[in-house]
Amino acid sequence: MTSPASPLTGLHDSHMHTPLCQHAVGHPREYAQAALDAGLSGVTFTDHIPMPAWYDAPWRMRRDQLAEYVDMVREAQAEFAGRLEIGLGLEADFHPGTERYVEEVLAAHPWDYVIGSVHYLGAWGFDNPEYVDEYERRDLGSLYRHYYALIEGAARSGLFDSVGHLDLPKKFGHRDPDGAAALRVLDSIAALGLSLDYNTAGERKTVAEAYPSPGLLDAAAERGIPLVLGSDAHRPSEVGHHFSAAAERILLAGGRLVTYAGRVRRG
Ligand SMILES: [Zn+2]
Ligand SMILES: [Zn+2]
Repeated sequence: MTSPASPLTGLHDSHMHTPLCQHAVGHPREYAQAALDAGLSGVTFTDHIPMPAWYDAPWRMRRDQLAEYVDMVREAQAEFAGRLEIGLGLEADFHPGTERYVEEVLAAHPWDYVIGSVHYLGAWGFDNPEYVDEYERRDLGSLYRHYYALIEGAARSGLFDSVGHLDLPKKFGHRDPDGAAALRVLDSIAALGLSLDYNTAGERKTVAEAYPSPGLLDAAAERGIPLVLGSDAHRPSEVGHHFSAAAERILLAGGRLVTYAGRVRRG
């Protein structure tokens, strides 16, 4: 049971990772306990999807670890049954040429929720702090146009329930100088009936702001795009991070919070 005194009661954290991705710490049971302690009503694990061996291998589980991931989440579900709802999901990558591989992984288990994220522009992992210098060599306008064209592809692929951390290239402070491409992609997301990951991890980065930005949140809410609240926790202490402020901001923007179960939208 959740504590009625907690400001996070009723909220569900739909974006978090496990150590299988090689850059997160804490067993799923510790994330679940942190959620319970914070007064959340549920969590959904969305660890980074396995990808072909040549793509970003050090930052994700291998394909042969997928069953272990599912088992770990199932164990946490059993352990917390009746106290905390726990969903089984994935943060999948959209990278042209890997769609069939992703499709196979998505068919392998009954997922509750699948986020579609873009982490690469060509061979450049643009959200990796190690390669942040590359921003200085790029024109930010064309960078964002390229990025949102990929997001458009992710939305149109039909593989995902939501778009992950919409304006991610701002992570280290490189903001979109234009904004038109982002609004066009929101039109598509609305037309295709997808949701947006409202991701509070940006609050912990240089940009110090959630993904999407307040302006894009307003634009999403105007278009009736549902929001899925997520901390993108890579350690148990990050579960539910900044959620009361985030929920308040979403309500003020006229946004609607939803969750997913069995890949069906609720709320
Ligand atoms: Zn990660
Ligand atoms: Zn991500």
